[in-house]
Amino acid sequence: MHLDAKIPSGPLAEKWDKHRFELKLVNPANKRKYTIIVVGTGLAGGSAAASLGELGYYVKSFCIQDSPRRAHSIAAQGGINAAKNYQNDGDSIWRLFYDTIKGGDFRAREANVHRLAQVSNNIIDHCVAQGIPFAREYGGLLANRSFGGAQVSRTFYARGQTGQQLLLGAYSSLMRQVAVGQVKMFPRREMLDIVVINGQARGIVVRNLITGEIESHAADAVVLCTGGYANVFYLSTNAMASNVSATFRAYKKGAFFANPCYTQIHPTCIPVHGTYQSKLTLMSESLRNDGRVWVPKPPGDKRPPNQIPESERDYYLEEKYPSFGNLVPRDVASRNAKAQCDMGKGVGETGFAVYLDFADAIQRDGKEVIQQKYGNLFQMYEKITASNPYETPMMIYPASHYVMGGLWVDYNLMSNLDGLFVMGEANFSDHGANRLGASALMQGLADGYFVIPYTVGGYLAGTSRPEITTDHPAFTEATRYVTERTQKLLSINGKRTVDDIHRQLGHILWGYCGMSRNDDGLLKARKLIQELREEFWENAMVPGSSEDFNQSLERAGRVADFLEFAELMVMDAFERKESCGGHFNEAYQTEEHEAMRDDENFCHVAAWEYKGDDNDPELHKEPLVFENVELTQRSYK
Ligand SMILES: Cc1cc2nc3c(=O)[nH]c(=O)nc-3n(C[C@H](O)[C@H](O)[C@H](O)COP(=O)(O)OP(=O)(O)OC[C@H]3O[C@@H](n4cnc5c(N)ncnc54)[C@H](O)[C@@H]3O)c2cc1C
Repeated sequence: MHLDAKIPSGPLAEKWDKHRFELKLVNPANKRKYTIIVVGTGLAGGSAAASLGELGYYVKSFCIQDSPRRAHSIAAQGGINAAKNYQNDGDSIWRLFYDTIKGGDFRAREANVHRLAQVSNNIIDHCVAQGIPFAREYGGLLANRSFGGAQVSRTFYARGQTGQQLLLGAYSSLMRQVAVGQVKMFPRREMLDIVVINGQARGIVVRNLITGEIESHAADAVVLCTGGYANVFYLSTNAMASNVSATFRAYKKGAFFANPCYTQIHPTCIPVHGTYQSKLTLMSESLRNDGRVWVPKPPGDKRPPNQIPESERDYYLEEKYPSFGNLVPRDVASRNAKAQCDMGKGVGETGFAVYLDFADAIQRDGKEVIQQKYGNLFQMYEKITASNPYETPMMIYPASHYVMGGLWVDYNLMSNLDGLFVMGEANFSDHGANRLGASALMQGLADGYFVIPYTVGGYLAGTSRPEITTDHPAFTEATRYVTERTQKLLSINGKRTVDDIHRQLGHILWGYCGMSRNDDGLLKARKLIQELREEFWENAMVPGSSEDFNQSLERAGRVADFLEFAELMVMDAFERKESCGGHFNEAYQTEEHEAMRDDENFCHVAAWEYKGDDNDPELHKEPLVFENVELTQRSYK
């Protein structure tokens, strides 16, 4: 099957303008006739629903939480990239485009990434107009800091709470539309199926998480902004409710899942400290602006950090990558941390940690300056670890954090199913095999404020759709499927908790499909996942009923999807016989242990098509064509 990404012709820098002009428009008076469903109220969904409402469409907005404000996006700490070049340090749209393509190890689409870099500047203007309190320099200009994989300072931030402030901006715009009646909010709803009629996405079926009622909603188009699936690893930095269910159910209805094995392991998280832990905490990448990463030089050195003299410390990132130092991209920093710990040089009780040390920065800039920049992050670290990072180096270790894989979309952010748009972390589109820091917020808001308002109009004006209501048999069928599955979960009546099974799934993935992979391990993982899935359906304990608030049932449904999806992840990792970005197959590495791509055979997007529960999915390939950048071995030396 030919996957048409619908990339506009013409010079790269002119594609988006040309495309926007060519897209059909919906007359303002006609917009109110169209209903658009937006699932998810994070930065992607919140900004999309607000923008579409502002344009005059009737929007139905859904989320799991009690308020759109509680979407996982609120956790984002460090910042959002844009090519404003306020620092006058050599930034440009082209450089942001290039850094993102290179950061993703040349596995993203040029046209999408260039558009992202172009609209990044609009996002900052828009957010400033909304009143987002970005940090400012003394003279009033917006301040910037550096993030990994870039040699310029282009990250805009609001202390360590950038996601929260941006989400409050999107939320305010959304609530304005709710107040004027353009958007109707449906909080506490979980999308459990998508309804496809004549090849077009026409609605969703949701469970009301308070009453247990199954509801159907019809629309002219459906926009999924349901976030990422990093929780498949059980322990991750994501919010507990982050899941794969919405995108996975869409996959089962025919939407292709792209690059599911591209996951991001973030280098600076608070290390795991106990068997019963259910969540990991990120320490923002911004800390690597000033913190220096090191381990003791000899393996097994158990002295406290302040007793280890300078000459016996290994600042391995600064040594190995003098150009980028501690600000190498996340995949590179994570792999190096693992390598140091595997050599026995890890610190802390478990030996799975490295130091992130601020002593030099405090001596250079003073404690007050460091406190101003990172105060809330230091406080958070101290609360969790009972160790004061102003006095003792932080201990950090990589953890599952973000996913570059997601539903396949074309340049319009539409999946291969007509009328099903996918945005933010839920799609695969912009980050290739590794995402650079501060680029997820940029992508979510680019998609929601600046891409979908145009492309959804082009779709609605350019296609015809029969009138349908929720009485259509496709809704009845989807409701039946959802109800039966819910009852099946409740009738397992087993002895093992869902959390325990999920934890085991996490161990399997972390061990065999985490920071590094090999073919034997992936084959083994596939078998272990199949066995665990069988055990789940025979022995999981799912108490309560379907007719009221039942968080055990919610979790069971999400874990059941993770157990199926995990197999797709390892299959995808097995098929990709190369290393690129976050996908590191040990058989394919350079002499210096860096990821070694195979551009001849794997310069493509792997898009998987569901073929039924009893068959393997089918792999489709979208070739990636690079006309503007040269494919090189990524180097941060
Ligand atoms: C701790 C942390 C810090 C981060 N810091 C940064 C940073 O500094 N800069 C940066 O660029 N990126 C950062 N990221 C990444 C970034 O926060 C996310 O990628 C981004 O916020 C995702 O936004 P989203 O709108 O796509 O999805 P989300 O914010 O995850 O929102 C998903 C929405 O979908 C809803 N939903 C999900 N499933 C369903 C369903 N089945 N039915 C109904 N609703 C559903 C949820 O309720 C929610 O409203 C960070 C991530 C973490 C974990």
